[in-house]
Amino acid sequence: MLALRSAPPVFGTAEAERVAREVYGLAVSVRPLSGERDCNFHARTADGREYVLKILGSQDPLTTDCQVRVLRHLADQDPSLPVPKVYPTLLGADLGQASQDGLDYATCLTGFLPGRLLVDCRADRPLLREVGRIVARVDRALQGFFHPALAQRIAWDVRRLPELIEFAPHIGSPDVRLQVEGVVAVMHNILPSLRGLRSQAIHGDCHAGNLLVAARATGDDTVGGILDFGDMIHAPLVVELAVAMAETGAAPDADVLAAILSGYVGVQELQAADVAVLYDLVCARHATTLLLHAWRVQHDQPGARLLDEAVAHAAVSLDALLRLGRETITRTWHHAAGTASSTTSVIDLGRRQRLMGAGAELFYEQPLHLVRGEAVWLYDPQGRAYLDVYNNVPHVGHCHPTVVRAIARQTAVLATHTRYLHERILEYAEELTARCPPHLDACIFVNSGSEANDVAWRIAQFATGHKGGMILAHAYHGITAAVAALTPGAGQPRDPRVVTLSVPPAGLAVGDTLSMPDLAAAGADADRAIRELAERGLAPAAFYLDTAATSSGIYDPPPAWAQAVTARVRAAGGLIVADEVQYGLGRSGSHFWGFERRGLVPDMVTLGKPVGNGYPMGVVIAGRSLIEAFQAQYGFFSTFGGNPVAASAGLAVLDVIEREQLVVNARTTGGYLRERLQRLAAQHACLGAVRGAGLLLGLEIVGPNPDAAKRRTKQIVNELASRARVLIGSEGPGANLLKLRPPLVFRPEHADLLVEAIGLAAQNIERRAV
Ligand code: PMP
Repeated sequence: MLALRSAPPVFGTAEAERVAREVYGLAVSVRPLSGERDCNFHARTADGREYVLKILGSQDPLTTDCQVRVLRHLADQDPSLPVPKVYPTLLGADLGQASQDGLDYATCLTGFLPGRLLVDCRADRPLLREVGRIVARVDRALQGFFHPALAQRIAWDVRRLPELIEFAPHIGSPDVRLQVEGVVAVMHNILPSLRGLRSQAIHGDCHAGNLLVAARATGDDTVGGILDFGDMIHAPLVVELAVAMAETGAAPDADVLAAILSGYVGVQELQAADVAVLYDLVCARHATTLLLHAWRVQHDQPGARLLDEAVAHAAVSLDALLRLGRETITRTWHHAAGTASSTTSVIDLGRRQRLMGAGAELFYEQPLHLVRGEAVWLYDPQGRAYLDVYNNVPHVGHCHPTVVRAIARQTAVLATHTRYLHERILEYAEELTARCPPHLDACIFVNSGSEANDVAWRIAQFATGHKGGMILAHAYHGITAAVAALTPGAGQPRDPRVVTLSVPPAGLAVGDTLSMPDLAAAGADADRAIRELAERGLAPAAFYLDTAATSSGIYDPPPAWAQAVTARVRAAGGLIVADEVQYGLGRSGSHFWGFERRGLVPDMVTLGKPVGNGYPMGVVIAGRSLIEAFQAQYGFFSTFGGNPVAASAGLAVLDVIEREQLVVNARTTGGYLRERLQRLAAQHACLGAVRGAGLLLGLEIVGPNPDAAKRRTKQIVNELASRARVLIGSEGPGANLLKLRPPLVFRPEHADLLVEAIGLAAQNIERRAV
């Protein structure tokens, strides 16, 4: 258990004066000084000599020994450092002893350093630079210092922040609590990288109550003292600076904090890797203050009061830091520290081709090197932000803290597989099936959309005894051998077991009525496909439908279309597989599942991409009897499928969708975007129809011929990425659709950025008439 309580010994002034007399042979009068763990007194002799008498709170002889030895060490290493000088007891020892209520306490007498505490001063930039310099001098002098007590576990050590997360519920403000939880999740992630950083003994607690300000002869302020070596630890050097920056920068401003940093590096060099984690460590210090305060409010009221000012500062500063963001601040700090950002290295494409093959696909003419994501934003090594309108895997937003935390927590506890009992996977299966029609009541867990489709394909063949597959023209269902056969557009030779259905009539929306001729045509097309199979001696095992018809060109036909087609498939003995890899989990904005929007009742539902928000996971949802029959015949087990970490990720995604009402957002923001795109298209000849619904939209690009349309589409996609820093893709059989498919946390203000960027690109096309 970490020592969370602040419990200094309680000695009165008379007792302190007695200790000074008996242990140190000094006749003094004392007055109390503040102290979080030690009981401190200012002591003055009749002839004006001043001391600090400390009754040390720690009962651990190692810790108390460390506290005095370090002062001796610093005095040796850098005699001009303004740290307290240790005075011996009458017996010549560094530590004395005082007893109270049967408990013995170590005592220590040091010189008194004059000055005001920094916490009581207005710290301008020159003074903050001095703070940086003095902290760096202490660190330099500490370089050769070793002591076993430096391994002490103290709650203020920012590396222990994840251990404090259980106190988060005690933080009163929900906003602050969320921020703190986010910081803890990040800290959890960067802990491994901290281990590789240069480490040594550090003071560990350079806050404004431990720094003294003194006036120089010239009249300006300088740091006249650094106090309290009771929190020393062996830690990455940069932790020292992070604490000082968190605690002493009065204004939560990157430039002000940079003043401390620049003072520091004037004395003690930092490396790029140190500066790269500085922002997260400063945030972590604030989060530590907020969490410890929250705990103390519950369990240690006097201790909480000691932190009242610090906690107000921490909340304001953390908020400001999070608003400014890691990228902006870290750039400023790299500049101040004279360290080039270690992430600015350009990836060598030749190396990539050697290692991954020249055919490994890359987006965009100028491939992007991305290093970080947050909600709808992606960042390159230079800290430039890209609006992500392409990626649907981070369904609830890139690196959503709830999902990150769920994954990190479960990874730290257990990652096995479904051959052991585990609660989470059952909870997840319950959550998924509860959102399905009653007949879809059991799940098989795998690792990708392809695998889910592959398993569904095996089940369909087994259950029907048929071998034929039916898909929509230009469908995409994945990469395994069996599923690639259901994906003829992806470079796979046409497989004689698979037949293709025509896409739904263009220009129809889900709310439209399907005309009788269109209805008849859809039915006739399905009949034709089934006949083709029969001519090859086959019958349909399954019809696979990507419910958004994404790669086929993004269609949103009325239910009558799918009903007409699937009735024929069923009559021929085939099953219906709703591939929800694209449209599942509310992307359409109207329903949780795409098959509901299509008016379909599938036999199996396959899931992938969005379910784990980036953690690999695929699911087949089907009727229990179907799954059990398959299990009985073949057995089924996937090593990674349904592991507790995946289940935790999946549950967190469902939770966020609900809490943040993302289906509603897909509807409202998707509706807003659709309308704005339609208005834009009316102004530009090269822009055509808007297809789809919710947050999966396609914008047709028009040209004098199909090749020109395709070329224009590619140009817009590339121009948006390189100029506007808006990431989209192209789609459809003619590659002439802009594919707009952002994380569901996409908001109207993001839609505005996107529409503006497309408008500019359209203008460019018209100006150049390409
Ligand atoms: N089905 C559909 C509709 C898809 O869009 C995809 C991926 N684009 C897949 C299946 C395959 O999923 P995965 O890449 O996870 O194997």
